[in-house]
Amino acid sequence: MKLVKHIANLGYGSRKQVQLMFREGRITDADGEVLYADDAVAHEAIRVDGEPLDPPPGLTLMLHKPRGYTCSTKDTGRLIYDLLPPRFRERSPQLSSVGRLDRDTSGLLLMTDDGALLHRIVSPKAKLDKAYEVTLADDLRGDEGARFASGTLMLESDDKPLLPAELDVQGPRQAQLVLHEGRYHQVRRMFAAVGNHVDALHRSRIGGLTLGALPEGEWRILDASDLDTLF
Ligand code: URA
Repeated sequence: MKLVKHIANLGYGSRKQVQLMFREGRITDADGEVLYADDAVAHEAIRVDGEPLDPPPGLTLMLHKPRGYTCSTKDTGRLIYDLLPPRFRERSPQLSSVGRLDRDTSGLLLMTDDGALLHRIVSPKAKLDKAYEVTLADDLRGDEGARFASGTLMLESDDKPLLPAELDVQGPRQAQLVLHEGRYHQVRRMFAAVGNHVDALHRSRIGGLTLGALPEGEWRILDASDLDTLF
């Protein structure tokens, strides 16, 4: 791919703006030698204003989503993209969230520009575990675990029962729920179906991947070994 298009696709500006950056000598190699738009140079060797280029396409990252942020590119409130470098929002192919977390849910959110990976993760066939830490408004009754594990629980307006899910009760109003599918507002609707209400919800794990020590509001790029732990 031509350098101008490659750099523009990373969100540095329109092709016109990137051409201007070349003319201004802002795009160099690692030794500071000015590059020209038709030079053939590897991604890793390119500098813009002396800084290495943002990661090439094939970018997957984890975000520790705080409550109050929406998984959307356009909404009036705070967006997950506000937590990333501004250029990441302008990339092509686009960096999208892998599934969604509700605005009021915190925790592990994956974002990728790799369409094949995205489909592999969200595909119902993958049946990837997702673990949620749940705080409830009312005390658990004791029968919720069996109902969630039964594989017969129907949610309002769905046409097939939920897959079995595992509930680990950790306190009167505290539990971990592990799901193997991802339906709209699933955790909140499951607890509503058993007469309770979710006060706080946090996703702690997808497959074998956890947030580790990543602070709330922060993100990090995933490498091949992180992706291996997913499946
Ligand atoms: N289930 C929910 O109800 N909300 C989420 O954000 C994720 C799973």
